[in-house]
Amino acid sequence: MSRRKNKQHTPPMRRCAGCMESHPQQEMIRIVLRDGVLVPDPERNLNGRGVYLCPKESCWELARRKRGFSRAFRQGIPDEAVQTLIEEIRGIREVKSGDSQQ
Ligand SMILES: [Zn+2]
Repeated sequence: MSRRKNKQHTPPMRRCAGCMESHPQQEMIRIVLRDGVLVPDPERNLNGRGVYLCPKESCWELARRKRGFSRAFRQGIPDEAVQTLIEEIRGIREVKSGDSQQ
């Protein structure tokens, strides 16, 4: 009765706002915009339009420099909002990588 992972199932792909390459959604970090604030959504359970980033810092910086968020959300996102976001996802990544040794 248990549901097994279907290996033939193709995972949904999402495009990174930084490098613009598509990767499986589960590998990406989801970002949503709430009241003008960029909010990381690592569990992917927040409503609203989402933008995705690769889990690497070079892509976060790329998205900032190329104004990938402003383009993706179709509104001007101030640079400091993106800086703040990068700080936040950096913190999330550190918690996860330090904690998920099994
Ligand atoms: Zn990327």
